[in-house]
Amino acid sequence: MARIDLHLHTTYSDGSFSPHEVVTMAHHAGVSTIAITDHDTTDGLPEAFTRASTFNLHIIPGIEISSQFRGKETHILGYFVTWQDPTFQRRLSFMRETRCTRIPKIINKLKQLGVVITEEEVKDVAGIGSIGRPHIAQVILAKGYVKSVKEAFERYLGHGAAAFVPRDLPDAAEVISWIQEVGGVAVLAHPGWVEEKQNGLSPFCEALKECGLQGLEVFYSTHTSKQISEYLFLAKRLDLLVTGGSDFHGQAKPGVEIGVGRGNLKISEKLLGPLEAARTSK
Ligand SMILES: [Zn+2]
Ligand SMILES: [Zn+2]
Repeated sequence: MARIDLHLHTTYSDGSFSPHEVVTMAHHAGVSTIAITDHDTTDGLPEAFTRASTFNLHIIPGIEISSQFRGKETHILGYFVTWQDPTFQRRLSFMRETRCTRIPKIINKLKQLGVVITEEEVKDVAGIGSIGRPHIAQVILAKGYVKSVKEAFERYLGHGAAAFVPRDLPDAAEVISWIQEVGGVAVLAHPGWVEEKQNGLSPFCEALKECGLQGLEVFYSTHTSKQISEYLFLAKRLDLLVTGGSDFHGQAKPGVEIGVGRGNLKISEKLLGPLEAARTSK
């Protein structure tokens, strides 16, 4: 059975390959269905669909929206979204504006710490993409202040680090409703990431389910087999759909490849039927 990969980033957010390139790579990797899930933007989708039409590759229109829940940054994936909807697009452009206003604040804090970079440098790295901390990290790295993107996050940009600036994020319940308003299916991204910062994933997911959450990204590049079995159990108990994706970012996240993650990720096509059945008709 062919592999699928429902979590991929392109240059339209913080990935290093264009939608055209990502689709080509997915085709060569033997992946049958992908979802492009850029942060707070669907602008890469037309290019991805155009490229996919030359292959026998199926694309699910997706998105990854940043939100907050119980005081923690929480990423919600949306699948089968009617992304052209004007209200949905207005919401996304508002989300991208909050990203922009945060950048100069971070740059200011960095300056006080002796790390001197400019907004233009960050914009150059972001290109057409939805601007974010990974782009700042790349500038800090290029200018030799740190030795890796990881170090940039640990020392300066990560939650609680020296130059961290909290972003005004919408509540997860709100983001889930945005996705469902346009016929999409709302899924909690990388629960392993949530578990690291939150005591007890189970009550967190239960509360999200009350807000309308429909699925859990059980299969993910960094999840151990122990985590996968725990999350499968949790999804079953809470009657949540099971999804999976690599969270491929290209060179921006080295070592994670389309369809296989860090090498042992295998996401079955069988997950697609229930996911598609859960979409609300629009
Ligand atoms: Zn994420
Ligand atoms: Zn992601």
